Amino acid sequence: MSQYDVDLFVIGAGSGGVRAARIASGYGARVAVAEEYRIGGTCVIRGCVPKKLLVYASRFPDGFEDSAGFGWSFPAEPTFSWAALIAAKDKEIARLSGLYEQNLAKAGVAIHRQRAVVAGPNAVRLADGTEITAERILVAAGGGPTVGDSRAPSSRFRPTRRSISLSCRRKS
Ligand SMILES: Cc1cc2nc3c(=O)[nH]c(=O)nc-3n(C[C@H](O)[C@H](O)[C@H](O)COP(=O)(O)OP(=O)(O)OC[C@H]3O[C@@H](n4cnc5c(N)ncnc54)[C@H](O)[C@@H]3O)c2cc1C
Repeated sequence: MSQYDVDLFVIGAGSGGVRAARIASGYGARVAVAEEYRIGGTCVIRGCVPKKLLVYASRFPDGFEDSAGFGWSFPAEPTFSWAALIAAKDKEIARLSGLYEQNLAKAGVAIHRQRAVVAGPNAVRLADGTEITAERILVAAGGGPTVGDSRAPSSRFRPTRRSISLSCRRKS
């Protein structure tokens, strides 16, 4: 009997964390995962998937225009609803996030829907104060952008939250 609560504790249920948790569980490990936002992480919730859906949506106008040359005609001008597109995109993301969660549950992974931090060599602490011991801890918390060295000549071309908000205000 292991001296730890779990064999593997994964911090972050994005592409990396979900895959690692499922594979380890498949080999018989006792696995838990903590996610502070939505299961699926950057790729599913705000990266690869929504980007592709929005890019596909942007391509239709050219198709409608070109189709006339191939014998197509429409009874009326096609119309577009941004609200309908965003609702459909959100629905698809919710479906995929749900599938990721179901697959984790099916694999027997315990899911903690809260932030976790490393509290020691073999311990993590959840936001609610619970401490869980683990033989191994995987930090799969993703990454974020940094501006880097502001003295470098190219740094003035790197957008920051402040420069984006200033340029939006100037344009409006
Ligand atoms: C706009 C955009 C488009 C992209 N398009 C593509 C693409 O087309 N193809 C491609 O291959 N890649 C693409 N990527 C990259 C891809 O999304 C990332 O490589 C991938 O998501 C990284 O996975 P990850 O598991 O390392 O991190 P993430 O997916 O970021 O997951 C980390 C998770 O950890 C959680 N977390 C962080 N800290 C804690 C904590 N302390 N406690 C609990 N939870 C925590 C976060 O909420 C998050 O859910 C894109 C990225 C972006 C931003």
